[in-house]
Amino acid sequence: MEHYDSIIIGAGHNGLVCAAYLARAGQKVLVLETADKPGGLAASREFHAGFKAPVAHSVNHFPKKIVTDLGLESHGFGTSSESLPTIGLSEEGHHVVLQGGAVTGVEAGDAAAYPDFMKQMQRFADALKPFWLKTIPRAAITNLADMMTFGRIGLKLRMLGKEDMREFMRITALPARDLMDENFDHPILKSVLCWDGLIGSKMAPRSPNHAVLPLLYRMSGDYCGDPGSLIEALHAAASASGAKIRTATAVERILVRTKDGVLAAQGVELANGEKIEADRVVSSADPQTTFFSLAGVESLEIEFTNRIRRLRCDGYVAKLHLALNGLPEFTGLDQVGGRMIIAPHMDAIEFAYDEAKYGECSNEPVMEIVIPSLRDSSLAPQGQHVLSAHVMYAPRRLKGGWDDSKRESFRERAIDAIARYAPGIRGQIIHSELLTPKDLESDFGVTGGHWHHTEFALDQALMMRPTYQAAQYSTPLPGLYLCGAGCHPGGDLNGSPGHNAAHEILR
Ligand SMILES: Cc1cc2nc3c(=O)[nH]c(=O)nc-3n(C[C@H](O)[C@H](O)[C@H](O)COP(=O)(O)OP(=O)(O)OC[C@H]3O[C@@H](n4cnc5c(N)ncnc54)[C@H](O)[C@@H]3O)c2cc1C
Repeated sequence: MEHYDSIIIGAGHNGLVCAAYLARAGQKVLVLETADKPGGLAASREFHAGFKAPVAHSVNHFPKKIVTDLGLESHGFGTSSESLPTIGLSEEGHHVVLQGGAVTGVEAGDAAAYPDFMKQMQRFADALKPFWLKTIPRAAITNLADMMTFGRIGLKLRMLGKEDMREFMRITALPARDLMDENFDHPILKSVLCWDGLIGSKMAPRSPNHAVLPLLYRMSGDYCGDPGSLIEALHAAASASGAKIRTATAVERILVRTKDGVLAAQGVELANGEKIEADRVVSSADPQTTFFSLAGVESLEIEFTNRIRRLRCDGYVAKLHLALNGLPEFTGLDQVGGRMIIAPHMDAIEFAYDEAKYGECSNEPVMEIVIPSLRDSSLAPQGQHVLSAHVMYAPRRLKGGWDDSKRESFRERAIDAIARYAPGIRGQIIHSELLTPKDLESDFGVTGGHWHHTEFALDQALMMRPTYQAAQYSTPLPGLYLCGAGCHPGGDLNGSPGHNAAHEILR
C-alpha cells in the first residue's frame, strides 16, 4: 500500500497552498480532489458552450508572502497591487466610483471625509495584518511562543496610539450602518462601503458583530488578480515542489485506527475502495464535512461534535452567470471594467436580508457584478462576454425547499434588477444560470454552500474558528488537521489557512 507523509483532501486554493509548503519542506504529499480539475470554488467551469466562469470571481487580498514563498509570479500568477475600481450603480447614471483612495459622484463633504476614513481603516487593517498569517494561540496560554503572539497583538494595537486604539475598540462590534451614518451622507457610498463587511455572511448593515472584522481582513491583503491564473500558478507550484495531485478522486472516509493506544487518522479510503496510508490527513473540506462525513463522530468526543454541529454554515449568496453576445451597457457608465454594486442604499440591503432571514428569497436582490471576460479572454468566445454576479440574499434553507421554479424565479428577479441599470441586457443574453447555495453545496461539496465554509463572525473567529480544540489546525483526532476556509483567518481567495496549517504541521 502507498504511504505518504501527508494526504490533503481537496485541491481548492487552500489545499494547494498547504501542499506546496509541505512538499517544499521535503514531505511526500498527495492531494486528492473530487472534481476533475483543481480550484474548488475558484475553478473555472463551463456553464454554456464556450462560456466559463469561476464561482469566486476575483482575488482581492492575496498575501505577498505566499506569492513570494511559492514563486507564484514565475508560475504565471498575474498580480496587481491596485484593486479594480468599485462602482456603486445608480439607476439614473449618477454612479459613485471608488478608486485609488478617492471617491467621485458624491458631495464635497463625503469626498473630503472618504480619504481620512479609509486611512484610519487601513491603519486598523495594517495592525491586524500580521496575525492573519499566524496561528492564534488558545486562550489558555501554555508556552512562551503563544504568550509572545498575544503580546505582539496587544502591542500592535497599542502602537496605533490612544485615539486610534479607542476608536478601534469602539467600532469592533458596531453595526456597519452606524459606522457609515457617522461618517457619510451619500446613500450609495454608504451601502458600497458596507459591502465588503457583509458579502458572504448572514449579515446586513444593522447586524451587530460585523462592521469591522471581515472588512479589515479584506483590506489587509497585498495583491489582486484573477482566480484562473491563481489556481494555475498554485497547481504548478505544488506540482513543481513534488506534491502529487490526483483529480476526479473523491475521499470516501478518513481511516481512523488505533496507534500507540489512541485512535488516530492514518490515511484515507477512496470512493472506489482504494486505501492510501499517511502519517497525517489534512482536510480542506469544511469542518462539518470533515468531522461528520469523513472522520465519523464515533472517533470524537460528543462535546466537540456538538460544537461542530452548532457551526452556522448556511450560505446566503447565489451566483448568477450570464453568457452575453457583447459587452453590456450600463446607463451613464463609460467603462464596465470595475466591480459594480447594486445596492442603492443601506435599507435596500437590510430589506433584502429581512426576507432571507425568514427563509424567503429577496424580492429586490442586491449584488456585486464583474465582467471577468474583460480580464481573462479565455472565458468567452471573441467579442462575447461573461457577466458574473454575487446575488444576495438566497437562503440555503428556503421555506418549502429549492426547486427549479424557485431557482428560475430568483434568477429572473436578479436579471430584472440588473436590467434596471443596463436596460438592453436582456437582448444580449445567450444563456443564464443561477447557482443557489443548495447547488453550491451539492456541486462543490461545501456544507450549506457557505462562502467561508462556516460563518465568519466574531464568535467564530480567531482562536474560536471553527471552534475550540480545532482552531490551531490540529484537531482532537491525532493525525487529522484542517487547512480550509473554515479555519483561521477565514474564507476568500487568500490562502492564509493553507499557509498556517502547513506551518503548524511542520512546527
Ligand atoms: C458564491 C460565492 C462567491 C464567492 N466569491 C468570491 C470572490 O469573488 N472572491 C473571494 O476571494 N472569495 C469568494 N468566495 C469565497 C471563496 O470561494 C472560498 O472562501 C474559497 O474558495 C475557499 O477555499 P478553500 O480552498 O478553503 O475551499 P474550496 O474552494 O471549497 O475547496 C475545497 C476542495 O475540497 C474538495 N473536496 C471536498 N470534499 C472532498 C472529498 N471528500 N474528497 C476529495 N476532495 C474533496 C472540493 O471538491 C474542493 O475542490 C466566494 C464563495 C462563494 C460561495
